[in-house]
Amino acid sequence: MSCPHCQSSIELKSYTNGEKLICTSCKLSFVELSCPHCSKSNYWENANDYAQGMKVICCYCQKHFQHINCPHCNARNDYKSADYIEGSITKCYKCNKTFQLMNCTHCQAANIWKNANYITSNPVTCSTCKSTIAISLWKSLA
Ligand SMILES: [Zn+2]
Ligand SMILES: [Zn+2]
Ligand SMILES: [Zn+2]
Ligand SMILES: [Zn+2]
Repeated sequence: MSCPHCQSSIELKSYTNGEKLICTSCKLSFVELSCPHCSKSNYWENANDYAQGMKVICCYCQKHFQHINCPHCNARNDYKSADYIEGSITKCYKCNKTFQLMNCTHCQAANIWKNANYITSNPVTCSTCKSTIAISLWKSLA
């Protein structure tokens, strides 16, 4: 993998797709995520611009997708049709455990309910920015 800022190559011992990375040369952060359709790497030069669960359009094949790393086993779950509805209960293809995810309307951060015990009519406090995510504000990115 190479840094989108300074192009130096980065050695990674362990890396989870879609997680924020910091370049060892220029110290800038970025996110890399490979497309489940064409498997090319998409980069976000500002690591805060990407969060799991966000709908993405691949810059190479222009197809939509969503990705969430399972909070139980860390397996990468891809929604190739970008059809995951925020807050809905989804099942990991690998460990078969369920979870829910909601992107904050303020900071985009992914809020994950590992036990899939979130009731979609309840207001949520974002674990990252502490703002309240009111259900009426949820916007569809479709
Ligand atoms: Zn760099
Ligand atoms: Zn693609
Ligand atoms: Zn899993
Ligand atoms: Zn937030």
